[in-house]
Amino acid sequence: HMAAPDVASNFQVIRDFGQAEEIFVKAEKEKNLGMQLVVEQGQIYGLALCFGEEAVYGIAAEGFLTGQYLADTMSRLVKKAEAAGYKNLKELQKEHVKLKAGDKVYAVCMDKSIALFIIGQEPLENGMNILGAHIDSPRIDVKQNPLYENEELAYLDTHYYGGIKKYQWVTLPLAIHGVIAKKDGTIVPVSIGDEEEDPVFVITDLLVHLASKQLEKKGSVVVEGEKLDLLIGSRPLEQDPSLDQEEKEAVKANVMELLKKYYDMEEEDFLSAELEIVPAGKARDCGLDKSMVIGYGQDDRVCAFTSLMAMLHTENKKRTSCCILVDKEEIGSVGATGMQSRFFENAVAEILDKCGEFSELKLRRAMANSTMISSDVGAAFDPMHADVYDKRSNPFFGKGMVLNKHTGARGKGGSNDANAEYIAKLRHVFDENKVAFQLTEMGKIDAGGGTIAYILANYDMEVIDCGVPVQNMHAPWEVVSKADVFET
Ligand code: MN
Ligand code: MN
Repeated sequence: HMAAPDVASNFQVIRDFGQAEEIFVKAEKEKNLGMQLVVEQGQIYGLALCFGEEAVYGIAAEGFLTGQYLADTMSRLVKKAEAAGYKNLKELQKEHVKLKAGDKVYAVCMDKSIALFIIGQEPLENGMNILGAHIDSPRIDVKQNPLYENEELAYLDTHYYGGIKKYQWVTLPLAIHGVIAKKDGTIVPVSIGDEEEDPVFVITDLLVHLASKQLEKKGSVVVEGEKLDLLIGSRPLEQDPSLDQEEKEAVKANVMELLKKYYDMEEEDFLSAELEIVPAGKARDCGLDKSMVIGYGQDDRVCAFTSLMAMLHTENKKRTSCCILVDKEEIGSVGATGMQSRFFENAVAEILDKCGEFSELKLRRAMANSTMISSDVGAAFDPMHADVYDKRSNPFFGKGMVLNKHTGARGKGGSNDANAEYIAKLRHVFDENKVAFQLTEMGKIDAGGGTIAYILANYDMEVIDCGVPVQNMHAPWEVVSKADVFET
């Protein structure tokens, strides 16, 4: 029911081998191709091929229907950008090239934030059309001195990141992602728990029969931050009986031996490691009708995905196009890789310079004349918890992209407030292009939160919050409606 009219013509199902050759010949010429076995009543019924990147719902089939976007790492984002013709700004800085209309450039900050640009036909000082989203999500981080043994069980000590309901993170299969940076400069990537054959990890919780005292507690302290340590081993190191000295913490020693074997790391390498604990497992279709996607990190990767898709499907426009995907939003957009950093402004300055146009005034004008859609998720109305929502002002699943005139809490505190004229312009664009949207707030008044919008608004540009409605936001598994992803 959500399908664009051209979907049927882009899907071809091979039902008998007589048709197969013709379809495979067509498939070989395609740049982007999706394939899926069609199974009916337990029988393989055919092979469905989906041609071209515009094939499903009018946007890229890759990743959309299966929530693949939730697994994007910075290196995958860079690969997508480079495949679409974007050049690394750092590399261009070394060369004597002048950027011209239609050129595509990207800049990466510490492997955590990225900004993409398509140089417009107009001078940059006329402003950019900016899409922005954040790519960090609430999670549990491993501390810098984490590994310990307690009663012959090995644990990693942790510190949670962002706003989580701690009780939601116990008893789930968990994965570890991140990097170990060694003293000699080598960076060892770590990813354990997402492949079928990988082990996973767990934070334990009390058996209900033993939990009468725990269950008396308030939700915020039922599971406390210090109790979120990760169980990672229980088998002691096999020891040589001829040695006189026995290893005291043999389970911990065994974990260290495995880390040495797989990652060539010593215990002190934890000092310069960034290891993130997240729910294990891929995003899945949700609902008998497969109308939703459940997965970790929809906040805000679903908006990062829709922003990036829009950017990758944009060519040479009048104004410079830009897409920013940033880190650290969940802890206040702080630090070098958060939106409050000079990273983005510096990248714009470098691009002005590469266009042969740099001046402080032109930089300021470029920022002030820009318009931005700051894309972050909205809290979708949940009938199970209707009392915290305001039905007339909250987003619903399946009703399209969320626009928030303002965010903030308790009287709009901490909000970006988009001006009416800008909203009018956007309404015009969306109506012309038949985009379904809903103007909303988060929950009832007094509730609410912030995004990156107000930070860009500080440059005197027009900014509005917009995004995809999410159920279970900030939980290990968050849910979106595919119809809303399509509209966004
Ligand atoms: Mn967010
Ligand atoms: Mn968030």
